[in-house]
Amino acid sequence: MRLILESKFQSLLLNWYSKNARILPWRSKPSLYKTVVSEFMLQQTQVKTMLPYFERWMRLFPSFEALSEANESNVLTAWAGLGYYARAKCLHECARGFVKNPVNSYRQWLNCKGIGDYTAAAIASIAFDEAVAVVDGNVIRVLCRLLSITESFKTKEVALKIIRPIANQFLSKTNPGKYNEALMELGAIVCTKQKPRCEVCPVKSCCKSYQKDTVHLCPHFFQVKRTCCTMQRYWIRDTHAFLLEPSTVGKVFRNTLQGLLELPIMTPQRMSVVGLGKLIFTGKRSIGPKDFIEQIYSPQKQVNSQSLMSLPEFSNCVRVPFDQRQRLACTGPHKRWISKLLQ
Ligand code: SF4
Repeated sequence: MRLILESKFQSLLLNWYSKNARILPWRSKPSLYKTVVSEFMLQQTQVKTMLPYFERWMRLFPSFEALSEANESNVLTAWAGLGYYARAKCLHECARGFVKNPVNSYRQWLNCKGIGDYTAAAIASIAFDEAVAVVDGNVIRVLCRLLSITESFKTKEVALKIIRPIANQFLSKTNPGKYNEALMELGAIVCTKQKPRCEVCPVKSCCKSYQKDTVHLCPHFFQVKRTCCTMQRYWIRDTHAFLLEPSTVGKVFRNTLQGLLELPIMTPQRMSVVGLGKLIFTGKRSIGPKDFIEQIYSPQKQVNSQSLMSLPEFSNCVRVPFDQRQRLACTGPHKRWISKLLQ
């Protein structure tokens, strides 16, 4: 019975995809490099957001060779705005490794830094037609709905463990790359998290949750509690330049923001040097399960950013002339906030 369902699902899905796939830059004239870059960028970012970054990236670094020769600061600057900068570093490292020692299989991709199961499966199946299923939140959702799996998952990892064998069972062994792309496409534009478009869904005739009216119950996750904390920072500028420092929250969150610049954090030592002026901006950002309210203060005293840097309290800061700010490897929220503060 299952086999009939699997082959019906595959054929409906592939048929739909062949006529409805979105035209995306990594799908026209596909290449291994385009697949790898797009998969890295899509790890935590939606297609709509990453499209302009992808196009620009291809102009700046059109091949593994070009990327491997680029310096890290240019790579991070090109990535700025996509968030989770560890991905940019890993992609850079991956290009350097690939140029010396090309890899092709799922197992080999899995050994590359920053590449997990999902990305390795996507690259191996799309670029090398290896029969390995991609499994991420989208795939979990589609398959849970397809089979009406209503059990509650404690975490995404638990769901992955349960759904991965099912995903491999449903995978088309003759056309795994296109099947994986089609499944991801279905999850992205039809079987969406909110308001799935069941009426126009190409696989509704074999979807158990559609038939049983359990779509709204699948998949079900226990709620994760979010936490929130407040941080204070300085906006220290003079007539030509302002100060930034390497990210401090990066150390807390598995170095995801390591190496990127942010506004200097307010410490008691720094406060004793420049004082505490007005609260001039409040921003909010989220990293993983944590929300940050960031309050940005001006110093109380008139400052000269150049001379401040000779003091131990500001010795790790960098001085950025206004006209060079666009080229900065800065975290996304801070880049946006700095633009507002300079207006
Ligand atoms: S019928 Fe609805 S729930 Fe089932 S796969 Fe299609 S969009 Fe998802």
